[in-house]
Amino acid sequence: KLAQVGVTGLAVMGRNLARNFARNGYTVAVHNRSVGRTHEFMERFAEEGEFVAAESAADLVASLERPRRVVIMVKAGGPTDAVIDELAPLLDEGDVIIDGGNAHFEDTRRRDEALRARGLHFVGTGISGGEEGALNGPSIMPGGSAEAYESLGPMLEKISAHVDGTPCCTHVGPGGAGHFVKMVHNGIEYADMQLIAESYDLLRHAGGLEPAAIADVFRGWNEGRLASYLVEITAEVLTHTDARTGSAFVDVIQDQAEQKGTGRWTVQTALELGVPVSGIAEAVFARSLSGHGDLREAARGLAGPQPAALSGEDAKRLAEDVEQALYASKVVSYAQGWNMISVGSREYGWDVDLGAMATIWRGGCIIRAAFLDRIRNAYAADPALPTLLADAEFSRELAAAQDAWRRVVVTAAELGIPTPGFSAALSYYDALRAERLPAAVTQAQRDYFGAHTYRRTDVEGSFHTRWDTNRDEESA
Ligand code: NDP
Repeated sequence: KLAQVGVTGLAVMGRNLARNFARNGYTVAVHNRSVGRTHEFMERFAEEGEFVAAESAADLVASLERPRRVVIMVKAGGPTDAVIDELAPLLDEGDVIIDGGNAHFEDTRRRDEALRARGLHFVGTGISGGEEGALNGPSIMPGGSAEAYESLGPMLEKISAHVDGTPCCTHVGPGGAGHFVKMVHNGIEYADMQLIAESYDLLRHAGGLEPAAIADVFRGWNEGRLASYLVEITAEVLTHTDARTGSAFVDVIQDQAEQKGTGRWTVQTALELGVPVSGIAEAVFARSLSGHGDLREAARGLAGPQPAALSGEDAKRLAEDVEQALYASKVVSYAQGWNMISVGSREYGWDVDLGAMATIWRGGCIIRAAFLDRIRNAYAADPALPTLLADAEFSRELAAAQDAWRRVVVTAAELGIPTPGFSAALSYYDALRAERLPAAVTQAQRDYFGAHTYRRTDVEGSFHTRWDTNRDEESA
């Protein structure tokens, strides 16, 4: 019997994705560069469904019905190119190669063009949710042509997570659109994690709460508008006691956060596109700073307040204030992420449906949360919404949250507790709503030292002031 889909690359992700396809009734051809892994797969999982073991790329191709669909789940970068180079000559016009790895969207654009020239379809797809998601239903963000999605989409939608009966998978747009939005998803994830970490820090040091008590606060939040996978697992982490020492787990692990690179890609791309994603950038930098033991060691003796717990009314109010600050800052980072998707979509001509991205991230992925329904509603009400902050619901909530948000940032500054995420989000909010920005000063400086010219508020055109002589203004 011919297989409906093939999976090559049987490490954790590929293996679980293959099992997911099989559990949903598909016959799956499985292949891996080292055949040992294929054999191990068959020994462990053959019983779960209909699998065809392929020992070589040629076997894999021969075992598939047409148009053939091959999912590549290998290490991103060179290995993906190596697998494509091996597969492409064996495939026929109309066949579909799917890359489910964490590829950079520029690589996906390049591969898409090269394979299109050979008559093959290429679908670069974001897959979120880690190994658990791959097995039980991930959020899937496929790019590539609409034609490829016609044959592939129903299968991907079937194996994806579902929320209220709606699949967490939709055709994002052509070319690199899928990997682009997956990248931004990860950037938003970095921001979410940083904001939650800052909330913890404030409750710990300004609130004087122990990790277990903070876990209770987070559990409470998880019943409200902040309900999300990340808040939920943070509570779990904070209640965990280290078996070796009997101390709170969070106190015995090193305070240095690592990263694999998608957050960095988001910020690099945002800089190139000129999109201000300050909250996401601060989250990436916060991880980077945490890892610089040398800088931290050298700065340890610098003057500043030692964090001391608040007392009285301030202490009582803190948890409620932090909830407001976290929520408001979260809205800002999502606004920045969605702005980035909108600009990327325009730049590359992808025509991404912004509301649909919120829909497919409600389940299966790391940032899954009830909150995403709100974003979906915002774009349903106005598909051309310039920023989420301008949505009536969100702007009302931000108005209600802002006093607490400001108090939290002030308290953090006074106590010497770093809150790059909260502070950047608040600055973004204030900068966007400002009547006049000091950018007027910056532009005047540029004109002064570099004759870069400026535009006036009252007259059309570009101007330059003769700073070096009589300060007359001339039309540029
Ligand atoms: P790894 O990233 O650890 O990659 C291991 C797999 O890649 C093995 O099957 C290996 O084959 C294969 N491979 C490596 N180099 C080559 C090569 N030159 N030619 C052919 N095959 C090669 O596997 P994961 O399952 O963790 O991830 C797979 C992809 O999914 C990656 O792109 C990853 O970024 C992405 N991803 C991972 C997530 C996760 O939570 N782990 C979440 C979402 C996406 P061999 O056995 O022969 O060495």
